[in-house]
Amino acid sequence: MTIKVLPPNLSAKIAAGEVVERPASVVKELVENSIDAGASQITVEIKAGGVEQIKVIDDGHGIPADEVAVAFQRHATSKVDTQDHLDAIATLGFRGEALPSISVVSRTIILTRQPLNTAGFRMEWHWGEPKSSGVHGCPPGTSIEVSDLFGNLPARRKFLRSSTAEASRIQELVSRYALVFPGVRFQLVVDGRTSFTSTGSGLPLEALLAVYGHQATTAMLEIHDDDLETGYQVDGFVSAPSLSRANRRYMTFFVNRRWVQSRMLSYAVEEAYMGLLQVKRFPLVALNIIIPYQDVDVNYHPSKREVRFREENQVFSTVQRAVRGALVADSPVPSLASPYASDSQSTIPTPFLLRSTFSGVPNGRGMPDYSSNRIGEPPGLTDSMLSAPPLNVVGQLKQTYIVAENSVGMFLVDQHAAHERVLFDQIYEERNQKESASQTILDVVSVDLTPAQDDALKANQEELVKYGFQFEYFGDRSYLLRAVPAIFRDGDPAQSLLDVLDMTAFEGLVRQKEDVTAASIACHGAIRAGKSLTELEMVALLEQLAATPNPHTCPHGRPTMVHFSSMHIEREFGRR
Ligand code: ADP
Ligand code: MG
Repeated sequence: MTIKVLPPNLSAKIAAGEVVERPASVVKELVENSIDAGASQITVEIKAGGVEQIKVIDDGHGIPADEVAVAFQRHATSKVDTQDHLDAIATLGFRGEALPSISVVSRTIILTRQPLNTAGFRMEWHWGEPKSSGVHGCPPGTSIEVSDLFGNLPARRKFLRSSTAEASRIQELVSRYALVFPGVRFQLVVDGRTSFTSTGSGLPLEALLAVYGHQATTAMLEIHDDDLETGYQVDGFVSAPSLSRANRRYMTFFVNRRWVQSRMLSYAVEEAYMGLLQVKRFPLVALNIIIPYQDVDVNYHPSKREVRFREENQVFSTVQRAVRGALVADSPVPSLASPYASDSQSTIPTPFLLRSTFSGVPNGRGMPDYSSNRIGEPPGLTDSMLSAPPLNVVGQLKQTYIVAENSVGMFLVDQHAAHERVLFDQIYEERNQKESASQTILDVVSVDLTPAQDDALKANQEELVKYGFQFEYFGDRSYLLRAVPAIFRDGDPAQSLLDVLDMTAFEGLVRQKEDVTAASIACHGAIRAGKSLTELEMVALLEQLAATPNPHTCPHGRPTMVHFSSMHIEREFGRR
């Protein structure tokens, strides 16, 4: 093909792809516009996950009638007009790309009225073409209705997830903005049903309550930190170490009230929690970092999701110090030595079923191949070990690995992964026998769910019940928990449900549906790294592992053990 400049309608569609990836990105752009317009109330209504319709209504300053058409031109913005502006952007929008990009992939209707005007203005666009416009009565503010999203881009539509999944992204997004704009009253209506509201009172704690519910809110610590060294400010909430989650989804960061994704910021926070949380546990965090506008480049990522800091190290240490400060103030002598001491779920259930010896274990099937790895790394399990004799426990390494040996060499067994495998098979088997052991809770507890957890619960309700959870709807994303799977009998029942839902929501993205719940339950129930085990417990765990049909990988596919062959060890010592 010869090189040609694309016709405008085609290039506009391609450019739109950078801004409008999915329904949630439309909501993000429209909500940001409403916030930039000084709105104190923003209502978001969606139908069928936002694909059928998204409507964002605000009470902001509106658009003058004669500028509405201009607002839909590419690079048309009222927010930037000089280089100086561009170097210090204070508004959420600044590129003038959202309205044109949205209107090119949907049917869009805008209704807008400036508060001092008596009449409003209406304009309709179909797939980027203006259809009709004129004076129209409406309340002060702006409402934008986006229908049939990607109706002209079937390829993009195919990449969308289910309506429920898209709706839950939107829920997450709206609730995040509610956290950092507590002065704005947000309302989200999903398929005609109000699914989230914030009060708009301006009190950050009330916003937190609306998003995370009662229980979590009482365990959150407020941060209000002016860093004298850097001049940066850190505001918001972090969870006390007693409250944690199984993934990073609950760590939300804003920079100058712009929602950003940043590995650097989550590292800074995780570092602050070092020694206070178990491995693979993450805090709940909602932090706004205030930095002089000149020190952040917000014009860095196509959908403005990431920002660049001029002084990255300073941002890191400011955030880390602020969070650590709040944690230390909460508990003046953090016990670094025994963060796991109170972990009541960390015991292997007894009595053990001694089903077989360790003989049949290493059969090479399904094992990751270490043999081709870097120099000095041990080879994997091979067929030569098919008839390997049982393993003898030598000891425990770093309270995380079981060191074991037999005549073919030494094995390091990951205690968490191994136990996960054992529990997974046990749970799975019980389920198939339709007799999942359930443990009734004496004092029924109420559990508040986040929108994402609520979705995970609804989507997996049947499975959860099958595996031994019993709960009933208690209104407004709250449930009464009556029973948990028997393997959780010694733990905190509410926490076990929350963890399983978190993991389910997270794993649902990558795994087959039927296994997700069992894998999540197994992961929550399994002993953690950092737990010291008695010799008896280690022996029992290895025997249970040997009895499972798939002992080499945990339900997530990670290896449960690594093998160092006798030959390899002898070679290393120059004995061969
Ligand atoms: P940007 O936000 O980057 O300026 P947009 O395409 O999102 O670009 O919007 C273009 C312009 O339309 C904005 O600069 C603003 O002047 C106006 N606008 C869009 N949405 C609203 C709204 N809800 N209320 C008032 N003005 C709006
Ligand atoms: Mg905008």
